[in-house]
Amino acid sequence: MKAVVCQNAELSVADRAEPTPGRGQVRLTVKRCGICGSDLHARHGIDELADVTAQAGYDRLGRSSEPIVFGHEFSGEVAEYGPGAKAAVPTGAPVVALPLIRNDGHVDGVGLSAHAPGAYAEQLVVEEALMLPVPNGLPSDVAALTEPMAVAWHAVRRGEVGKRQVAIVIGCGPVGLGVILMLKAHGVRTVVASDYSPGRRALAQRCGADVVVDPAQDSPYTAAGDRGHLEDIPSTLELAVGTTEKLGRLPFGWWHVWRAADKLGAATPKHPVIFECVGVPGVIESIVDGAPLFSRVVVVGVCVGEDRFKPAMAINKEIDLRFVIGYTPLEFRDTLHMLAEGEVDPRPMMTGEVGLEGVEGAFAALADPEKHAKILIDPARQGAGAP
Ligand SMILES: [Zn+2]
Repeated sequence: MKAVVCQNAELSVADRAEPTPGRGQVRLTVKRCGICGSDLHARHGIDELADVTAQAGYDRLGRSSEPIVFGHEFSGEVAEYGPGAKAAVPTGAPVVALPLIRNDGHVDGVGLSAHAPGAYAEQLVVEEALMLPVPNGLPSDVAALTEPMAVAWHAVRRGEVGKRQVAIVIGCGPVGLGVILMLKAHGVRTVVASDYSPGRRALAQRCGADVVVDPAQDSPYTAAGDRGHLEDIPSTLELAVGTTEKLGRLPFGWWHVWRAADKLGAATPKHPVIFECVGVPGVIESIVDGAPLFSRVVVVGVCVGEDRFKPAMAINKEIDLRFVIGYTPLEFRDTLHMLAEGEVDPRPMMTGEVGLEGVEGAFAALADPEKHAKILIDPARQGAGAP
């Protein structure tokens, strides 16, 4: 079979042996595979990434000298079951799978090391237990977006965004666009999107953002108008004293009212939920500096190198900073069904499709934010195909 192999930052199409499914595993014919920003990063920086994951106890991420087949955002068709499989899904049926696989007593991420080749290939092996049939005739290109959309769904859930809260998405690459789509699918009324690139701002609009700003011109933090957010320390102090004075006029202790409001979650000042979807040094600091007080910040963008911010600024504003990664198997399953039932439509972010020969060109095209967000690989496609 053919596969795209990355070794020493070089991408090349190679002939490889068809993979054999082990116990409880399934070989899939790959229908579509998305190119993820983390693949772009891993091509040149997988050693740095591997060092960080090794510090956290996982030392099996690939190294740049190994031949790695990327690809963890895929859809496929069941081709062959390994021994001991239940084989509940018929051969030829369309499926997706979580990109994790059992390997000699380890669990590896698919498409991130030589132990677990990914879906930049005609065939790949997945765990039967992590495989899900694609319902409702969902096309294979949209089904391949289950994985990145599950990342966005997890971020939105971890953001605990109320429908009436303002959500602000900083960075409108594939991650930010996925978050915008999921926020709208979740019923959040006001989604502000911010990106320096006009092309990405246009994509954000197509994905449903209600307010789109160029941060060089306008602040994303005030773009939704006056929402009662606290912009500075004096307004917070005024609110604390003013509220206590008002409640003090009641014939019973102000603390009874405050405690009741606290129980209902109404005592925390109004604040937006901000999604950091850029992942380069300096972005967290710029958000902490610009955000209203009490903002919740969800960091989705992956900055692998070191970064810095001023804790005292985050403290003065009581910024609630959360970091997120991946999704749960339940979120992955729910995302597939949201896609299949049309509750969320990621097609506006799908900007290109290539064959295996076209992956190198697609990596180059994705470096330019103006034109592309998500490029899919169709391994059956002859020739490169224009991204
Ligand atoms: Zn990814």
